[in-house]
Amino acid sequence: MKHFPIFVALEGRRVVLSGGGDAALAKLRLLLKTEAAIHVYAKTPAPEIVTWADEARLTLHRRTLAAGDCEGATLFYAADEDATEDARTAALATAEGALVNIVDNLSDSQFITPAIVDRDPVTVAIGTEARPRSSPAPLSRSRGAAARPSRPSGAHRQAFRHAVDVLPMGRRRRDYWADYYFRQGPRALEQGGPDAVRRTLASLLDDYKTREDRAGHVAFVGAGPGDPELLTLKARRALDEADVVIHDRLVTPEILELARREAVLVDAGKEGFGPSMTQDEINRLIVAHAESGAQVVRLKGGDPTVFGRLDEEIDAVTEAGITYHVVPGITAASASVAAIGQSLTSRGRNSSVRFLTGHDTRGFADHDWAALARPGEVAAIYMGKKSARFIQGRLIMHGADRATPVTVIENATRPDQRVLSTTLDALPADLTAAGLTGPALTFYGLAPRAAQAALTQTKQEFA
Ligand code: SAH
Repeated sequence: MKHFPIFVALEGRRVVLSGGGDAALAKLRLLLKTEAAIHVYAKTPAPEIVTWADEARLTLHRRTLAAGDCEGATLFYAADEDATEDARTAALATAEGALVNIVDNLSDSQFITPAIVDRDPVTVAIGTEARPRSSPAPLSRSRGAAARPSRPSGAHRQAFRHAVDVLPMGRRRRDYWADYYFRQGPRALEQGGPDAVRRTLASLLDDYKTREDRAGHVAFVGAGPGDPELLTLKARRALDEADVVIHDRLVTPEILELARREAVLVDAGKEGFGPSMTQDEINRLIVAHAESGAQVVRLKGGDPTVFGRLDEEIDAVTEAGITYHVVPGITAASASVAAIGQSLTSRGRNSSVRFLTGHDTRGFADHDWAALARPGEVAAIYMGKKSARFIQGRLIMHGADRATPVTVIENATRPDQRVLSTTLDALPADLTAAGLTGPALTFYGLAPRAAQAALTQTKQEFA
């Protein structure tokens, strides 16, 4: 065992990091989960680092690391992504007694950061001694324990560590190892054993030496209603392979946790760095990342094709000549009917269901109210909280029965899910009284199944 696994108590201890780019961000996201006194040295820090400094979560020094900066530091991270600068800062830190980690350079590091599964209060750390420079972490935090094909042993990769130095650090090298580890390697192992694996490593390296960097690509991925277990396997894989994840406000932190550790996370729906982004800005951001060669995951709550402004983003991406694919997700309507033990359609009750939006970019949205007001109609109303009174007025005006059941499901599938069962008549008043703050879906024409007690019991049994 070359590395001895320990958990270090970092509360109040000085941890120093040099660097302000993607590698620094990835390490800082982990370090910010601790109580360490974090000091970052970067001349041009990423905006996230500036925000963290403003929030007093770390101390930012806008200059390069100098002698004395690592005095009394417990750990030091060299994260400038530049071999010369990393060697310089690592030497300074070592001289001042800190334990040193150089990002993407296992052999010159004194400690490594393992893959971490954080399920507070339980933390599982997973390390591997055979991890080559810049390889994808074979047991990365986000990878599940599902059965996988057999993998080539670490010994071959060890032997290759230095040969791979001919590839530039970063994406190309990572792609090389991913290709070897997840595709070509296992195939060769299956077909021709260890000799074939060695040959594959060599020919793959020749191939990657001359290969252009992989073109950027955008995956429009549905994140579902919030419960991570309702992600599709395709969504998980996309998160696993993402360089950049651009997500909206509806995506829960539990789901973002599943993104590849090194992935850059961009919140396009929150007022993080100034006012929330406009659709044009989001389009430009997606295109800019993909043009730089990134595998971009555009992660949207629910299903990306339902009130997700997907077409505008696809247009921007295709106009820029970038490839894309769409991964569907479970939409809020499906999640919400499940929560009240109902079906979206039911023989003898409703043979169609409408998905409506309460408001669109121009204000409250108009619909075929007369058709909807007929008995037995069912509609799933998205973004319907603010427009409840407007919708009620329109429906009653077109002859809807005031006693028509209406059910509002807030935070469907999340731990704080709430169900409000009311009628068309009482909807606005009951909504105001309930004071819902989370995303909520309104079902017009549906009440929770009468056997509510049985439903609760089943839920508890499966909890
Ligand atoms: N693409 C999303 C919808 C985006 S519009 C989907 O397919 O679900 C945003 C609206 O979706 C919210 O205003 C709310 O009405 C609904 N919504 C999203 N997530 C929800 C959840 N977990 N519970 C209830 N409603 C939700």
